[in-house]
Amino acid sequence: MSIKRLSPEELLGLDRFNVDEGNPHIIVEKARCAVCAPRPCVTVCPARCYRLKDGQVAFDYAGCLECGTCRVVCKDKGVTSWTYPRASFGITFRCS
Ligand code: SF4
Ligand code: SF4
Repeated sequence: MSIKRLSPEELLGLDRFNVDEGNPHIIVEKARCAVCAPRPCVTVCPARCYRLKDGQVAFDYAGCLECGTCRVVCKDKGVTSWTYPRASFGITFRCS
């Protein structure tokens, strides 16, 4: 039996998401992001939920991998609330 090695992108493509529309598990305060110079969330989020758009940080919780990295690196208190999604929502990690 041979095991196929998958790239990170291929592995992530196997995952399933059930987005809790209208009920974000992470809340980001845009006014605080506007005065945050380093904006580490844009660099470290593996799912690219944080993106620069017209010079401002835009956030979309759909596709979040629930790793918690943004909560740790946000020193300017832009992440005002971080929880796991409600039961049955969020990501289901799959390997095949
Ligand atoms: S690190 Fe925090 S405050 Fe800075 S842009 Fe990201 S979420 Fe906003
Ligand atoms: S928890 Fe992880 S994947 Fe989700 S938004 Fe934060 S850094 Fe990105």
